[in-house]
Amino acid sequence: MDSILEFDISSLQLYADNTERLLICCHSECGFALSTARSQATSHLRDKHNIPRDIRDGLTRYLKHKHPYSFRNPADVDPREDGSQVHRMLRISEGFACRECSYRTINYAEYSRHASKEHLSGGHASRQRVDPYYDDVYPLLQNGLDPKSVYFPI
Ligand SMILES: [Zn+2]
Ligand SMILES: [Zn+2]
Repeated sequence: MDSILEFDISSLQLYADNTERLLICCHSECGFALSTARSQATSHLRDKHNIPRDIRDGLTRYLKHKHPYSFRNPADVDPREDGSQVHRMLRISEGFACRECSYRTINYAEYSRHASKEHLSGGHASRQRVDPYYDDVYPLLQNGLDPKSVYFPI
């Protein structure tokens, strides 16, 4: 039997979400969905988690040819609606929610760029000017590495 049929992604701490069709990296420092285009999932395991070659060997081929469905690119998945159920495999991060629009991010620098461009007419985004524009310490659930792929879980 072709051993690749037996490939066990959980041994690499990967999780296949069958509903969302996302491949999620469950290593404690991740909790993100991975893009599976080309060999990106395998590269992620090599670069971020130092998984030796013999263990990750075959993953790219398995995902491409043998996995029952193809995974979606996390960047193409719509953020969930506010109040959605918490996904147990995804990490919750604290982030910034714009008070003026629906923009959310976990990255302050991204937020201040947003505030400057959208709400301060391109003006200098000092903390003093930016601070009134956001609510912070919101739990945002990330569905991908893309900082825009966030949503309120609860
Ligand atoms: Zn990872
Ligand atoms: Zn805004």
